[in-house]
Amino acid sequence: MSAVERQQWDVVVVGAGGAGLRAAIEARERGARTAVICKSLFGKAHTVMAEGGIAAAMANVNEHDNWQVHFRDTLRGGKFLNQWRMAELHAKEAPDRVWELETWGALFDRTKDGKISQRNFGGHEYPRLAHVGDRTGLELIRTLQQKIVSLQQEDEKETGDYESRLKVFQECTVTRILKDGTRVSGVFAYERETGRFFVLEAPAVVIATGGIGKSFKVTSNSWEYTGDGHALALLAGAPLLNMEFVQFHPTGMVWPPSVKGILVTESVRGDGGVLRNSEGKRFMFDYIPDVFKEKYAESEEEGDRWYEDPDHNRRPPELLPRDEVARAINSEVKAGRGSPHGGVFLDVSTRMPAEVIRRRLPSMYHQFKELADVDITAEAMEVGPTCHYVMGGVAVDSDTAAARGVPGLFAAGEVAGGMHGSNRLGGNSLSDLLVFGRRAGWHAADHAADLDERPAVDDEQIDAAAAEALRPFSAEGQEPDSGPPENPYTLHQALQQSMNDLVGIIRREGEMEQALENLAELRVRARRAGVEGHRQFNPGWHLALDLRNMLLVSECVARAALERTESRGGHTREDHPVMDRRWRPVNLLCRLADPTGGLAAADPERDQIDLTRESTDPIRADLLALFEKEELVKYLAEEELYE
Ligand code: FAD
Repeated sequence: MSAVERQQWDVVVVGAGGAGLRAAIEARERGARTAVICKSLFGKAHTVMAEGGIAAAMANVNEHDNWQVHFRDTLRGGKFLNQWRMAELHAKEAPDRVWELETWGALFDRTKDGKISQRNFGGHEYPRLAHVGDRTGLELIRTLQQKIVSLQQEDEKETGDYESRLKVFQECTVTRILKDGTRVSGVFAYERETGRFFVLEAPAVVIATGGIGKSFKVTSNSWEYTGDGHALALLAGAPLLNMEFVQFHPTGMVWPPSVKGILVTESVRGDGGVLRNSEGKRFMFDYIPDVFKEKYAESEEEGDRWYEDPDHNRRPPELLPRDEVARAINSEVKAGRGSPHGGVFLDVSTRMPAEVIRRRLPSMYHQFKELADVDITAEAMEVGPTCHYVMGGVAVDSDTAAARGVPGLFAAGEVAGGMHGSNRLGGNSLSDLLVFGRRAGWHAADHAADLDERPAVDDEQIDAAAAEALRPFSAEGQEPDSGPPENPYTLHQALQQSMNDLVGIIRREGEMEQALENLAELRVRARRAGVEGHRQFNPGWHLALDLRNMLLVSECVARAALERTESRGGHTREDHPVMDRRWRPVNLLCRLADPTGGLAAADPERDQIDLTRESTDPIRADLLALFEKEELVKYLAEEELYE
C-alpha cells in the first residue's frame, strides 16, 4: 500500500498556460473544486511568450471581417485538414473570448477611435490580431491569473480558505494519468524542488500541457515543452491525431549559436518587414503557390500599397502562411543565397522610422540588441526556420474537448489536435486556448458533477508510477547485461539531432526510416538513463523522466510523417512534393502498442506506436458553401466533390 499523499478534487487541470488557466476558471465557475498543476512557476508558460496577438474577427480595423472569413482563412491555412467543427466554433467564439478578457482587466492596444486594435498576420485576410505591443501573451496570462486570484478571494470570504475551491500546484510535474478501468481517476505527480510524490484524485482531468518543441534541436520552445501531455494521453489510452504536422516558424534567430531558434515574431512582417536574400532580392514573390496565386500581390509596389489600401490591393507574399515562408527560406539558403549565418535577411529598418519600430516591436528591439548586438532600427535581422508548434495532438471531440476513448480525460490548447489542420495561422493559438480551454473546463466540470460515484484510485498504479519515476536512480545494476547507465543529456542531444536532421522541415523516406531506427536504439538506451544524487531539485532526473515522453512523441511524428506520402502544411516530403487531394480526407491516428499503458515491463525492442488511417468527417455543406467551387476543387478529393 502506497504512502503517497493524496488529495481529492473534482477537476485537475494539468498545465497553467492560457488553455489550462481558462479551463480552470470555467470549471471553478461551474462549481467544480479545481486544482491546477504546472511544471514551471505559475505564470511562466509558453502563453506568456506569445508576442503577436490573438486572432478574432472583431472587425475593428476592417469592417468586412466576420467569423466566416476567419473560418475560411483557418481552413486554407490548414489546407482543409482542420477538424472543421473546431474551426467553426473557434471563429465564432474568439471575439467573445477577447471581449471577456477586457472585462477581466486586460488592456489591449487601441485604434484611433478607441476600439481594440487589430494587426495583420500571415494568412489572415483582414487585420485580425488583438494585441498589446508584441507582448500579448503576457497580458493574457496576467489577466487570467488575476481572475484566478479574484475567484480565490471570493472563496476565502465564503470558506475562510483561499484555496478551498481553486488551488495551484506550481513547479510540479505530472508523470501519469491514473485510471479506474477505462475511466480517469486522477494524476500522479512529483514536486520538482523536493522530489516528493503525490496524487491528485479526480474524475476529470484536463490536459493543457502545450507543445513538443524540445524534441528538436532548433526550437522556439522553452525547457518544459517535452510533449508530456501528448505522452500522458497516449499512455492513458487516448489516440494522437496527425502528429506529422509540426510547424517550423519561418523566422527564428540564427545567430549567435546560443540563441539559435528564439522566435522573431510574425508581427515584424505583419507591420511591414520584408525578407531578402543575400542578393537583396525580395524572394517571396518567387514562391507563391498556385492555390494562393490570386490572393497575393504580384509586385513589390502592389504589396507595399496593400498596407495603406488593403481593399484595392493584394497582400505581400511575406504574409503567406508560415509553412510556405519557411520552405521558401529553406530553399534560398540551400541555393546559396542565404545570409552569413545560414538564414536570410528580415528588414524593418528601411521600412519604418526608428521610433515606430521601437514602439510597435519593443521586445524584438531589445531581443536583438541584447542577444545579438543588432540594432533592428538600423540594420536587417538574420532569421531562419525554427521548430515552433505542433498541430498534431490528442484526438478530441470538437464541442466538448473530451479525449477520445478515455472517459474523464479532456485536452485543450496546443496539446489537442485537429483545430489547425496541417498548419496553424499565427494568432490562432491564443484564441484556440481561450475558446477550447473554456469548453474543456465546462465539460470537465459537467462530467465530474454528473457522476454517481467517484472512480477509485488504484494503489498498484500509484506504486508502479512511483517505481517508474525512481528508476533513473537505480539504472546501474537493474539490467546488468545492458551496460553502464546512460547520461540523459547525451540521450536528449542525440534525440534532438535525429529529429532535426531526419524528420525536420524537409522530409525523405530513407531519412525517416533512419530516424525510427535511431529512436528505437535511443529507447533501449533510455531505459538505462541514470542519474546520481537525490530527489531534491535534480534537473538530470527530471530530464530522464521527460525522455520517455519525447521518445514516444517523436516516434509518433516520425511514423505519421513516413506514412503520409504527400506534402501538406507543416509536413513537406521531398519525395512527394505536392499536396495530394486523395490525402485530404485521411487522418492518421497513433496509439500506444502496449495495452497495459506502458506500466508493465514493456519490450524495449518493440515499436511503441500503432498507426492507423481514419476518414475525416465530411465538411458540413453550409460551411463548404463559404468557398468558391474553383477553390474547393484544389483541395477536396474527387469523391468529396461529388458528395
Ligand atoms: P502553454 O502555454 O505552453 O502551457 C503549458 C503548461 O503546461 C505550462 O504551465 C507547463 O508548465 C505545463 N506542463 C507541461 N508539462 C507538464 C507536466 N508534465 N506536468 C505539469 N505541468 C506541465 N500564438 C499565438 O496565437 N500568437 C502569438 O503571438 C504567439 N507567439 C508565440 C511566441 C513564442 C515565442 C512561442 C514559443 C509561441 C507563440 N505562440 C503564439 C504559440 C502559443 O504561445 C502557444 O501555442 C500557446 O501559448 C500554448 O498554450 P497552452 O495553454 O496550450 O500551453
